[in-house]
Amino acid sequence: MSKSADDKVKLTLRRAESRPEADGNATWPVLVVDDDPDVHSMTRVLLRDFSFQGKGFEVISAMSGAEARTVLSTRDDIPVMLLDVVMETPDAGLSLIRHVRDDLGNRRLAIVLRTGQPGEAPERDVMLAYDINDYRSKTELTAQKLFTSLIGGLRSWIHLSTIEAMASNLERRVEERTCQLDEARRFAESLVETLPNPLWFTDPDGSLRLYNRAFREMFAVDGTDWHGQPAHSVLPQPLAGLDQLADMSLKAGGPGGLAFEASLDRPGDPRTLVVNKAMVISDCRGMPDEPMGTIGIVTDITERKRMESQLRHLATTDELTGCLNRRAFFVVAEQELERASRYGGSVSVLMIDIDHFKQVNDRHGHAVGDRALKAATAAIRANLREIDSFGRLGGEEFAAMLPETPLAGALLVAERLREAVAAIVLPLGENEAPLRLTTSLGVAERRAEETSLDQILARADTALYRAKAEGRNRVLA
Ligand code: GH3
Ligand code: MG
Ligand code: MG
Repeated sequence: MSKSADDKVKLTLRRAESRPEADGNATWPVLVVDDDPDVHSMTRVLLRDFSFQGKGFEVISAMSGAEARTVLSTRDDIPVMLLDVVMETPDAGLSLIRHVRDDLGNRRLAIVLRTGQPGEAPERDVMLAYDINDYRSKTELTAQKLFTSLIGGLRSWIHLSTIEAMASNLERRVEERTCQLDEARRFAESLVETLPNPLWFTDPDGSLRLYNRAFREMFAVDGTDWHGQPAHSVLPQPLAGLDQLADMSLKAGGPGGLAFEASLDRPGDPRTLVVNKAMVISDCRGMPDEPMGTIGIVTDITERKRMESQLRHLATTDELTGCLNRRAFFVVAEQELERASRYGGSVSVLMIDIDHFKQVNDRHGHAVGDRALKAATAAIRANLREIDSFGRLGGEEFAAMLPETPLAGALLVAERLREAVAAIVLPLGENEAPLRLTTSLGVAERRAEETSLDQILARADTALYRAKAEGRNRVLA
């Protein structure tokens, strides 16, 4: 027994034992029920010298069964009753006992029957049925025998009082505990129900034992009561299949919890879900570590994914032209270069710069310059392969990386790009000639010893510089 439980029992005992004192009694009340006044006075005389646990006795007199009923109807603190059998009626004593036990429900009161007519002694079965503590002939009323009888009755009363107090204390504690458990259950239920994430609990057989409103809204939409049904008959595929696999893995002693992602192919509303699963283990006595089932909880990450991809797009794309921005081009090109370095294979880079672009802005304004940049980007993009990377390094300067392309091939591609931009005809105002653009391109192929993108781009840039110097609108390596 734990220390605090031990303390509680002691406390209860003490409280029960001290009950008579708590009632303000400095004496033990003894109810004497007898139609013979001499019995009362004699008892009083005999009890005068008695004491038990430091307290004397006090005689409460009732001259009939009816009078005793009146006394007992207002007092339940009397531990012992000395009762005559024959009083106003031959069975007044026995009927009083029945009244005490059955009507008042008082099982503590110790009853000592005393009769002047031994022939009136109750039958054995009556003694048993009514919890009669003792039976004495009035001639046996010597001080010693009365004392013995009284003490026996008092002890029985004290023990029964203790047990009753413990029982009612236990009952109250069970009631309190039940109430607390009930509150905890209601709290958990409303928490689960209010949770915005779909949540469900399945027993070890995979049958649904609990699910919340969000679950109903997402999966169990037709109003059917799915409790007790297999979860995989409610969850849509491929979620149901993945969920079963997750449960198997948890059952097989995998990690305490796991998460998986599932895509729901809903017509017009595809969703990406993350499902967290955890095993619930019982620690109740008798079945420790017994799996009670698994909890599943869904987080819909569709919006998060969409925003992430939007952010990624914004972070990697050049706003005006829609091609890779400078930073993204370097990331992609460096990955490609690393791949080429590891597996071998040629790779070439192009630096592309629009000729005299400042004049375009100066003559036609910034808006026309922007249109020209977009048109040039589109023309270049259209003439590159899907596997080529293409980005705007800044202003009117672009770069392309061509995997699996040696210098000769790269020169051909560069020439094709130069022609594509040269073929652009950008209409201006009604009386104005359309705008045309030319570009200069520098080409470099990765050398075996070159490991950094900067080195190769620098050589392509040098070639571009020479192309400008040699008159522009040309490709040089
Ligand atoms: P070069 O043939 O030597 O390359 O001469 P350039 O005029 O093309 O080169 P320069 O570097 O002197 O001028 C680039 C111009 O590009 C300057 C700037 O106004 C213009 N420019 C840079 N970014 C943008 C842009 O986003 N929109 C527009 N409209 N113009 C831009
Ligand atoms: Mg330029
Ligand atoms: Mg420039």
